[in-house]
Order: sequence, then structure tokens, then C-alpha cells
Amino acid sequence: MSSVEPINLLGLDSAKLVELVGQWGGKPFRARQLQRWVHQRGVSGFDAMTDLAREFRQQLAAQCYVSAPPVSVEQRSSDGTRKWLFDVGKNNAIETVFIPEDDRGTLCISSQAGCTVACPFCSTGYQGFNRNLTTAEIIGQLWHARRVLQADAPSARTVAGEPGGADRVISNVVMMGMGEPLLNYDQVLGALRLMLDDNAYGLSRRRVTVSTSGVVPMMDRLGQDCPVALAVSLHAPNDALRDRLVPLNRKYPLAELLAACNRYLEHAPRDFITFEYIMLDGVNDAPEQAAELITIAKQVRCKFNLIPFNPFAQSGLKRSPMPRIRLFAQRLQDAGIVTTVRKTRGDDIDAACGQLAGDVKDRTRINERLPHRATIAITEE
Ligand code: SAH
Ligand code: SF4
Repeated sequence: MSSVEPINLLGLDSAKLVELVGQWGGKPFRARQLQRWVHQRGVSGFDAMTDLAREFRQQLAAQCYVSAPPVSVEQRSSDGTRKWLFDVGKNNAIETVFIPEDDRGTLCISSQAGCTVACPFCSTGYQGFNRNLTTAEIIGQLWHARRVLQADAPSARTVAGEPGGADRVISNVVMMGMGEPLLNYDQVLGALRLMLDDNAYGLSRRRVTVSTSGVVPMMDRLGQDCPVALAVSLHAPNDALRDRLVPLNRKYPLAELLAACNRYLEHAPRDFITFEYIMLDGVNDAPEQAAELITIAKQVRCKFNLIPFNPFAQSGLKRSPMPRIRLFAQRLQDAGIVTTVRKTRGDDIDAACGQLAGDVKDRTRINERLPHRATIAITEE
């Protein structure tokens, strides 16, 4: 036996799995069977894969394994939201949040431990950058959540109108957890391919969303390689303010970002981009800023999602008052722009956007000891 590193099968998209199985003389059909065992049935032990030949199983056991990062904390909110904290080593933790709704179940997953973009309103930004997650760690979040939710069925809520119930508990995935997915492009791409693969998670492209702070060249690549729904974190209506709120804007200013959005729309599965706009008291919530934003919105087919800021101690920022958020939304709506305000879910387990260690409200909670943040999916009011 050679002493090659064992391979985590969660990290292999179908092409790579076919290649691996091919090296052992196996047909692509075998790789597909294996993929279904691993991702669809959530099986990690090769012995249980009864329709695979014994030698093949032995080969797999000798050289491969199936494993998601270990879960250090699991929490459940009174509103059904669930949160897992995964230990990715060296004191790094990442979060995954599941948000059940009547017509869908959304899993919010992380792409990096920390983030280099350092937006001042985001607790991940304050952590700095630790490392990129691997495809296995990204897909491992989905693999684990799906397994747990399936095991909980039939008590888990099912998605209305979809037969198979528990099988479809997770109908949507949003890459809105920790990290900037497009700065970990190759590993994220592998994970996206598995999400869409019929032999793995079989999600529709329209139900998989990448959220980006605006990594222009990678938006172009994503449009070519694997067009899925795209959310762009806009947060400011002009370069001067966006340079401060989303420092990556200094590299890829608004005009370039908007042009990239339009190029993306040529390939996108949806005919609009979702612009996310965090509502910060006295920073980006004035009527003139709404007016500026309308000019921008006219340049791209888009919908707006206004996100009430989730405060944390170090940020020194405050959430816009709700009446101001509603007024801001109304201005955009009056200009013909579809606008929603994101609802906060999972408050009692700190599963809302950007919550982290040291948040005044959260002093007694586990989050205080485990610096991280999580965000929730787009939820329309
Ligand atoms: N890096 C990517 C994806 C992760 S952040 C991006 O920036 O788009 C996902 C969303 O959570 C972003 O729109 C981000 O602006 C938002 N977010 C970050 N911190 C937040 C906070 N404290 N309150 C509310 N939303 C926050
Ligand atoms: Fe990174 Fe997104 Fe947080 Fe900005 S908002 S620091 S890009 S995770």
C-alpha cells in the first residue's frame, strides 16, 4: 500500500470522481452510484454501499473517506431556524444556518474562515482572514445539514408542493455565511457543481445563490463556468461611500461592477441581480442616497433587498430605524424597483446576519466565546 493522503470524497465533483474511479478501472456509472450513496443518502461508511462490488468498496476504504468538519455547537431557534458551528481547525469556526419557510427551506453556508474584504459593518471582516475552505468543507455543511434534517423527518418541515418531503427540506442554498465566495473561486465552483448535480443535491440553478461584494473578474468566470443566481452586496450608491463600506470597491468601482452585473445577466438563470443594501443609521439611509440608488438601479435589471444592520460592539454603527427603512424601501418601490426588507430570523440563537462575539445583546451566549458570524437568507416581507 502506498502512503498517499486519503481522499475526502465530499470534495470531488462528478468529473473528479469519474477520474478517480477510472484510475481503478471503474466505469463512470460506478462513480455515479458512489456519488448517490455519499450525497443523496448521506452514507459515509463504504460497507453500507451494498450495490458496489466488494473490491471496489475495499479500494475505497483503503484510499478514501467521507467526512464533514466536526460540529462543535448545534442550536435550534423557537422559529425553526437551526444553526451549526463547525470546527475547521486551528481555533477557526464557521457557521451554517437553516431557515425553514412555508414554501422553501434555505441553507446559508460559509466559503471562508474569515474574510479579506474587511467591510466595517461585518464581524467576519473584523476577524481578518484565516483561510479558504475546501470544497469538502463547503459541501460538508450541506451534507451534514441535509443528513440531520432528513433524520429528523417527518418532524422537519417539508417544502410545500414538493413530493418526497424530507428529501427536499433544503430547497435553496445561499452563499451568504462567512467569507467572500468569489475570492475562493475554485473550491466554491466545485461545491456549486455538486449542489446542482442530479446525482448529488440536484438543486435548481435558480435556487442556488452566490453573494459577492463585487469581485468583478470572478463574476465573469462564474457566468461562464456555472451561472447561478447572483446577489451583489451594494450597500452604497456612490464610489466615495462604497470605498469605505466595501473596501473592494477601490479595486472594482461601481461602474465596473454594474457592467459586470449586466454581463452576468447574459448567462444568469434569473433575469435580475439581487442588490443587497445594509441599512446603516445616518450612513447610507438618506432620501438623497435613495435617489442616487435609483439612478444605479436603472442601469441593471435588479431587485433590492434592504438588510437591517445587525449591530455588534466594535462596529460603532447603528441600525436605521424601521420607519426610515420603510421610507427608503418606498422610494425605491415608487421608482418601479422591486424592493424587499429582510426579516430577521433565529434571533434567539444569534443566527441573524453579522452576529458575533461580544455583541452586547449576546453576552451570555455561546457566540461570545466563539467569534464568528452568520447571515440569513433573503426573506421577503
Ligand atoms: N462576502 C459576501 C457574502 C457573505 S456576507 C458578501 O459580502 O456579499 C452576506 C451578506 O451579509 C452581505 O450582504 C453582507 O453585507 C451581510 N452582512 C454582513 N454583516 C452584516 C451585519 N452586521 N448585519 C447585517 N448584514 C450583514
Ligand atoms: Fe467579507 Fe462579505 Fe463580510 Fe464584507 S460583508 S467582510 S465581503 S463576508
